Amino acid sequence: VPLPPAESSEASDLDIEGFDETDAEKHEFQADVSRVMDIFIHSLYTHKDIFLRETISNGSDALDKIRYLAITDDTVLGDKKDLELFIEYDKEARTVSVTDTGIGMTKDDLIKHLGTIAKSGTTQFVEALSAGTDINLIGQFGVGFYSNFLVAEQIIVTSKHNDDSQHIWMSRAGNTFSVIEDPRGNTLGRGTRVTIKLKQDALDFVDEEILRKTVRKYSEFVQYPIYLRVKKD
Ligand code: ADP
Ligand code: MG
Repeated sequence: VPLPPAESSEASDLDIEGFDETDAEKHEFQADVSRVMDIFIHSLYTHKDIFLRETISNGSDALDKIRYLAITDDTVLGDKKDLELFIEYDKEARTVSVTDTGIGMTKDDLIKHLGTIAKSGTTQFVEALSAGTDINLIGQFGVGFYSNFLVAEQIIVTSKHNDDSQHIWMSRAGNTFSVIEDPRGNTLGRGTRVTIKLKQDALDFVDEEILRKTVRKYSEFVQYPIYLRVKKD
């Protein structure tokens, strides 16, 4: 699927600096999650671009979920009728973000889905890796989200589900993550934005051509349009 032409837009509305941790609730990661994050953070794996595949794939899954609900009740779509994905980057802020207009996550979803591992695949994942299995196969183990730590020093997830107000989840790995109701209110309408603050050694990804190439490589089977938003300097 060819990427639609780049369009210009203002900077992402997510001001990563605007996240005030002092007011956020702290939650502990399940031990398995910390283990998996550690593996990704310290990985010498060279194909770090798979973080984008896993994050786009999660966005696509979230779009499938809202599309499915809309079959029997199209009011669930509200003002957000377009089911799509946006990729944005900001060189100065060192961020790359993936936004979907999918089902979104409530506060409880954020804590549960991004703090624990649902599938029992962690042990198999850890064992498979030490046995030399390619890290590329992570999708199967239900830990794809954490592959963002191949390139991220910080991850901020902003999400709006129909059943809750917009919330922000934030992690710099370690044992805890933070969750806070978004002080900006509902800026997404519906869906999720995953913003990755890149590590120094992963700055390649704040580049239009690299992002375009990576998205093309991995988006072949994604059924929704993916737009690359180019920030105007
Ligand atoms: P998997 O996709 O195999 O379930 P992941 O680690 O990739 O495992 O994601 C964990 C969970 O986090 C997902 O199952 C989903 O519930 C939630 N999640 C991640 N990204 C999104 C998103 N963009 N929109 C809604 N939910 C998401
Ligand atoms: Mg996934």
